[in-house]
Amino acid sequence: MTSLSEIVSKPTVFDCVIVGAGPSGSACAYWLAEAGWSVCLIEKKKFPREKTCGDGLTPRSVHQLAQMGLEPAVAANGHRYNGLRAFGFGATLEMNWPDHPVFPNYGYTITRFNLDGLVAQRAEELGAVLVNGVEALGLVEPTQSPNGGLLGASGVLAAEKSTGATGEIRGRYVIVADGQNSRLGRELGTSRNRSWPMGMALRGYYTSERHDEPWIDSHLDIRDPKGDVVPGYGWIFPLGDGRVNVGVGLLSTGGAWKGVNTTKLQEYFVAQTADAWGLNDESCCGPATGGRLPMGLSLGPRTGANTLTIGDAAGTVNPFNGEGIAYGYETGRLAAGVVGEALLANDASALALYDERLDQAYGDYYKVARAFVRIISEPRILTACVGVGMRVEPLMTELLTIMANLMRNDKLGPAEVGYRALVRLADVIPERAYHLLLGDATSAD
Ligand SMILES: Cc1cc2nc3c(=O)[nH]c(=O)nc-3n(C[C@H](O)[C@H](O)[C@H](O)COP(=O)(O)OP(=O)(O)OC[C@H]3O[C@@H](n4cnc5c(N)ncnc54)[C@H](O)[C@@H]3O)c2cc1C
Repeated sequence: MTSLSEIVSKPTVFDCVIVGAGPSGSACAYWLAEAGWSVCLIEKKKFPREKTCGDGLTPRSVHQLAQMGLEPAVAANGHRYNGLRAFGFGATLEMNWPDHPVFPNYGYTITRFNLDGLVAQRAEELGAVLVNGVEALGLVEPTQSPNGGLLGASGVLAAEKSTGATGEIRGRYVIVADGQNSRLGRELGTSRNRSWPMGMALRGYYTSERHDEPWIDSHLDIRDPKGDVVPGYGWIFPLGDGRVNVGVGLLSTGGAWKGVNTTKLQEYFVAQTADAWGLNDESCCGPATGGRLPMGLSLGPRTGANTLTIGDAAGTVNPFNGEGIAYGYETGRLAAGVVGEALLANDASALALYDERLDQAYGDYYKVARAFVRIISEPRILTACVGVGMRVEPLMTELLTIMANLMRNDKLGPAEVGYRALVRLADVIPERAYHLLLGDATSAD
């Protein structure tokens, strides 16, 4: 690990400076370093560090970790599971992850305390300069973009948290990966499309005898003490280390979370699952913590003259299932690819490829997902759909494949056919029409 004073004592200009060593920043640093570019990865916390999360890795995340040579480390520190167990309206379904030519048919749970440092260290092993306990305070020499995109910058002003010492870290390219609150992203000029979905979630840890079950649980109907369904969903993810991660999430496209907050929702959910999992004051490991999930590529612009945003700072969480780790790894890798091309060609205009590649990778999928979320965030529709779906196992299995973005390119099964139909539907129904149909013309936050 390198200190800020070591960096600022030399007139170094890195090929790329990356702010934030979560999944997106560390993956980006890994792929740039692997290609031989000089990278500085700045992280305000010291690893290992806590990060509020459900700690669930789907097959998409496992694939990216394996590509970075990290699956053995994840297996050693995490808990392997087979698939999703869904509960709702009196029914229970156990659904294995599907077979796929690229993605494995299993996932892991692993705390972010254990996971995130592994990826950052892996980037460091390949030559990235990792500075921990150093916060990026702002942009150095911000410049307007000629095309209305993000500001350009020649680096970031950074402060060592332990000493308060400051210095500039300079780079030919600057990538912002500072997460959902993205202060640097806002300085670059990002803003959220407030009519698109946003998630909010809260989680806590409990000790439980059932800590090593082979399923992650998802509860699709959370009930208040009167037995009425409240909007939102709950999860219990066994961690295999004596604990389970228990959390709730709310999706909003316009007012749906106005009547209920995540703290209340968590209370109801814990009460509903307490007996089955042994959740009580004694097994509770501490207060629950929460955060927002910016989804569906709702934050933009994402490209400037020599700057990019990735992961949560670009709003890349999957609206279908709240998964953000895989999309952090993937967008970090996409960004590393275009920055590498720009460096090779000595032509920053190659950064325009980033938006094109995001669109190719997620454009249609996130359009469908945003429409889906808009529809199911209406509690009456959610209740009707889940009530029926939970009784038709093949339908739910195909839906799981679509929601986890595990459709295949090499053959056309029911999930692929269903997904293509949804893409066509999302193409013909403009996003605005959902507001009118569901009467939610205003944004919730
Ligand atoms: C309650 C909850 C549960 C979730 N559960 C899951 C789940 O089970 N599975 C899943 O796939 N996703 C889950 N997500 C989403 C997932 O956590 C995020 O999508 C993911 O962490 C995004 O990665 P990132 O690298 O973009 O940002 P982050 O993981 O937020 O990383 C950003 C990093 O930047 C650092 N940083 C911030 N500002 C600065 C600065 N100025 N200078 C230096 N460093 C800075 C931060 O310390 C942090 O390490 C959940 C989210 C929440 C809130």
